[in-house]
Amino acid sequence: MQLSGDLLLSLQEVDRRLAAKREELELVDAQLEAQAEIPVLTERAEEERENAIERRAHLARLETDVDALRQRVDELEERIYGGSVTNLRELTAVEEEQTSARRELMQAEESLGPARLAADDAERAREDLAATLEERATTWAETAPGLRKQSKATKSEVETLEAERAESAKNVPAGELALYDQLLFRRKGVAVARVERGVCLACHITLPLKESSRLRRADALVTCGNCGRILIPS
Ligand SMILES: [Zn+2]
Repeated sequence: MQLSGDLLLSLQEVDRRLAAKREELELVDAQLEAQAEIPVLTERAEEERENAIERRAHLARLETDVDALRQRVDELEERIYGGSVTNLRELTAVEEEQTSARRELMQAEESLGPARLAADDAERAREDLAATLEERATTWAETAPGLRKQSKATKSEVETLEAERAESAKNVPAGELALYDQLLFRRKGVAVARVERGVCLACHITLPLKESSRLRRADALVTCGNCGRILIPS
């Protein structure tokens, strides 16, 4: 029993190191996975660029329309007030045309403001995203080689510890190993606890005399009545 207890304690030590290493590997790999963000950002930057071009083109078209309409209104006014039209019917027709051209001009001028705002917003969004992308890409280029190296090294350390774990577990009786594995999972990495002066060092509860004497006799595996961990006499 004493022998088995020592085996379980050393197994627990390997498991503790293995868990820490696995956690480290997970953290490094999570950082490596963040690179997936770059193609997504690149795609979004391209969309923002296209949007900015579209907005700018729309604004330019609107400005051209406004210029043409202004010119048309001026021409019609010139005809009305310049005295070149003498026929009343023709004058009425020109006046009607001028009224409708004015209305069109007003509408076109009203949409100029929102179109300018939209073009400016699109340009700002494009600039912001382009800057973010450049920053991320630079950071990524700087950190990626180190992270890849660290991931590879940590992975190999995990594999070494896994082999060590398998080796340590081989010598533990199957029933005890099953209980140990169950406790390791349920008790967050601490399945085995030492007992000192009748106190379980994991949960700090004084063991009942019956358990204490069973532990001293050490003819079977004794677990803590409070936390359930496998007890090892000191
Ligand atoms: Zn306990």
